[in-house]
Amino acid sequence: MNQETFITEVSKSVRCGTCKSLCPTYAESRNESMGARGRVAMLGALCSEDLSPSKALAERIFNCLLCGACKGLCPLGIDIPEAIYHGRKLLQRSHKKGRLIKTALRYSITKMDTAFSILRVLQNFFYKPLYNSGKLRYTPPITSHPFKNGMQVHKTTNKVGRVAIFTGCSINYLYPNMGESLIRVLNSKGFEVVVFKREVCCGAPIRDAGLEDDAEQMAARNLDIFKKVRADAVISMCPTCTLVIQEQYPKLYGDTIPNMMDVNEFFIKNGITEGLEITPRVVTYHDPCHTRYGTGLTKEPRAILRGIEGLQFQEMKNADECCGFGGFFSLNYKDMSRSIGSKKFESINNTLASTVVTSCPGCVMQLEDIGKAERNNIKIRHIVEIVDEAMHG
Ligand code: SF4
Ligand code: SF4
Repeated sequence: MNQETFITEVSKSVRCGTCKSLCPTYAESRNESMGARGRVAMLGALCSEDLSPSKALAERIFNCLLCGACKGLCPLGIDIPEAIYHGRKLLQRSHKKGRLIKTALRYSITKMDTAFSILRVLQNFFYKPLYNSGKLRYTPPITSHPFKNGMQVHKTTNKVGRVAIFTGCSINYLYPNMGESLIRVLNSKGFEVVVFKREVCCGAPIRDAGLEDDAEQMAARNLDIFKKVRADAVISMCPTCTLVIQEQYPKLYGDTIPNMMDVNEFFIKNGITEGLEITPRVVTYHDPCHTRYGTGLTKEPRAILRGIEGLQFQEMKNADECCGFGGFFSLNYKDMSRSIGSKKFESINNTLASTVVTSCPGCVMQLEDIGKAERNNIKIRHIVEIVDEAMHG
């Protein structure tokens, strides 16, 4: 969104309040300035110079989860998340809370392997005491073998096709096991799999931090790599990466990766999960916001789970409500993030499920954090891990 469109968009709000009906930060705080309508009104006041950039204003614009729940609700068609992205760009110097993370991000985006190696050392020394004192949230161990640094081409016998994986940072550094599960599943079904070491961050966390220009550089690099690839599909296990590439790249940079696909969509289209069987258990499913309000893939994961012999699927109440992760939101606004997550856990606990399944590594991390804080032993799995288990034991 450019400055002119931004001014037009935020100025046309009639303050009806429709957009705040599903806003998780409003539901949590009951504070107008922490809801969608309030944020649009404040951005309007910023444009008309009734409000000046300030730390307090930046706080309200940066403590949005960018979940997208408000997006389709505005009767005037205002794209609220895009307005918030632009507001963040304008206010990023006033946002003091995430300054350290932002500075680190800016200097490390082109050197992620080095940055995560340093973080891994720090994690080894300082994580336990900081976590035990409540100062830090749960983070899975940072791997010393990033997923993308493994083999680049995973061949298979009886080849039926060739796919590329868009790994994303969470899978690469925190959950490489999920990526390995996907390779096993695809190889077993005759798909040769390509993993690109040169892939960079999709740009989502960088845009979230208000660093629009840096995000554009990331997009250009990914487009350069993935547009040349010969593959039936480019598959992602992270709905944020998928949404950013499918929806934001064309709008912002005029181009996209044409055959980009969420893993659930690929599995259904190619009958990957037909005829599977697993050790019996009750499962429930949590909809990540960027699938519920972004890619719209809510039926596909349920069809996959219901189709696996042995799984008893039980729908939870409010399955589509946010888990409170929101990327840096979970670090910068830890208490609110935990509180939103605890409500999600209440819904999970009200089912008989022994496993909660989702399709987003970020949601997995958030649910793991809440589960540990509440000493709840329910298993949390990415859907790819369940399919892998059903296929290979
Ligand atoms: S993106 Fe989510 S948290 Fe942000 S204003 Fe919209 S509904 Fe609220
Ligand atoms: S729904 Fe649209 S018009 Fe109504 S308050 Fe929200 S942004 Fe303004």
